Amino acid sequence: MRVDIVTGRFEDLDHAQEKLALVASDRDLSWSQLKQEVERLSEILSALTLPKGHPIIVYGHKRASMVVGMLACIANDHPYIPVDTVVPTERAKRILAMTKAQVVLNCTGEELVLDVPLVVAEGLVERRHVPDFIDSIPFRAEDPIRYIIFTSGSTGEPKGVQITRDAADSFLRWMASDFGFGPGDVFINQAPFSFDLSVYELFTALHLGGTLLLNDAATCKDSQRFISRIAHYGGSVWVSTPTFAYLYLTEPTFVAGTMPSLHSFLFCGEALPKMTAQRLLDRFPTSRVLNTYGPTEATVATTLIDVTRDVLAQYPDMPVGVPKPEGNVRTTPDGTRDEPGEIEIIGPHVSIGYFNAPDLNAQKFFAVDGQRAFRTGDYGYFQDGILFFNGRKDEQVKLNGFRIELGDITAQMLAVPGVADAIAVPLKAGDVVKRIIGFVRAQPGSDPQALRAEVLAHLKQELPEYMVPGDIAFVEAFPVNTSHKTDRKALIEGYLKR
Ligand code: AMP
Repeated sequence: MRVDIVTGRFEDLDHAQEKLALVASDRDLSWSQLKQEVERLSEILSALTLPKGHPIIVYGHKRASMVVGMLACIANDHPYIPVDTVVPTERAKRILAMTKAQVVLNCTGEELVLDVPLVVAEGLVERRHVPDFIDSIPFRAEDPIRYIIFTSGSTGEPKGVQITRDAADSFLRWMASDFGFGPGDVFINQAPFSFDLSVYELFTALHLGGTLLLNDAATCKDSQRFISRIAHYGGSVWVSTPTFAYLYLTEPTFVAGTMPSLHSFLFCGEALPKMTAQRLLDRFPTSRVLNTYGPTEATVATTLIDVTRDVLAQYPDMPVGVPKPEGNVRTTPDGTRDEPGEIEIIGPHVSIGYFNAPDLNAQKFFAVDGQRAFRTGDYGYFQDGILFFNGRKDEQVKLNGFRIELGDITAQMLAVPGVADAIAVPLKAGDVVKRIIGFVRAQPGSDPQALRAEVLAHLKQELPEYMVPGDIAFVEAFPVNTSHKTDRKALIEGYLKR
């Protein structure tokens, strides 16, 4: 059996019904059980008679009901918004307020802390108050929105990337044709569903009729548990950020012998260091290391390369790959290694834009020959038809694979009373961000110790843990460079001297 992710319908119904479709943190579901649960929830959702295309928040962490929930939303043409419980409640509340979503599928297994009119959990509908259905997301009958994933925004508000059915369709055609995966594969998940990296294994495993192996945060941190889970379920496709795999390389049992089914490592989301790729090929000599590149705004990924030993030997930099056949990628102006251009992505997999952000959409999205196009803010260049990534134009950074707009952190620090000025700056080793430092100028008369505690408490309340700076440093004044901008380099140098 498989589920056509594009339509939400189950297909090949008589085939392999008892095979595992989903191994979640709380239970396993065979294909026939998954179908039954999705159909049951779909009926519940349609009985709610929500306005067409009304968004639904799917809230939880790696439990089976999250996958059932997302599939039921697809089957009913409701955009789902995956919000993992790693997202602080305040941020989840802002997403609720922005999207005016009136329904939450509570997949936490606990009482829901979010205040929302309709809560659906364990097959029961709880009506808390009268919904106020505002047409926040107009229904697009010709190409319905499948999901909205919220990422860090530079102004302090998260931005919602809207991915439609046709964009998902284009992504899945590429997955089915160019990656060499099939129904026999068991896809190993690491990322929470609020990150688009997770769409790789979620959509591909279910669309191809394979098995999706979810791993909660505690399992991902416990190397022995994670490795034996992969071995037990015959995990074959590893999907993660390169940082996550790098951490596993310190583990002696992270070798082909302990996970004999594992044949592919699929990476996306941040630069894959050559050393990581090399060491993976040494430890897993018959496995493939696939590097892919792309922003959430172009449905998970846009370029792909099989990083073989030959590729590593041939290129001094790590290539990010060849564009998918339905997509077109260019650098503007046409870049070289020394003078890279901005990477622009064109094709049916490009998002229709951020939710309710017309100004930002006008800056970032455009059209080329009638096709949607996106300015990534990434620098790059082509060599031998292969794309190479060469840093960012703006203040977006990646820390352990997490996408962070430094402006998002700065805005939150500035919101704390007693803070006169603030800026978040990355502390790097080479090109890799190791930590984020929050520099703060206090208002006269503030007590720095108390202010530090207040800033940290506020940030922890408003931002996901990975965005909270590793340190808060107080400065008397912000140094200015020759272009009259805050001199971040001088701030970091001063910090390191101290
Ligand atoms: P996200 O939307 O979280 O997937 O982040 C997308 C951004 O991550 C891109 O715009 C790049 O800056 C960076 N990125 C993604 N994949 C790669 C890669 N393979 N190599 C280098 N940077 C990458």
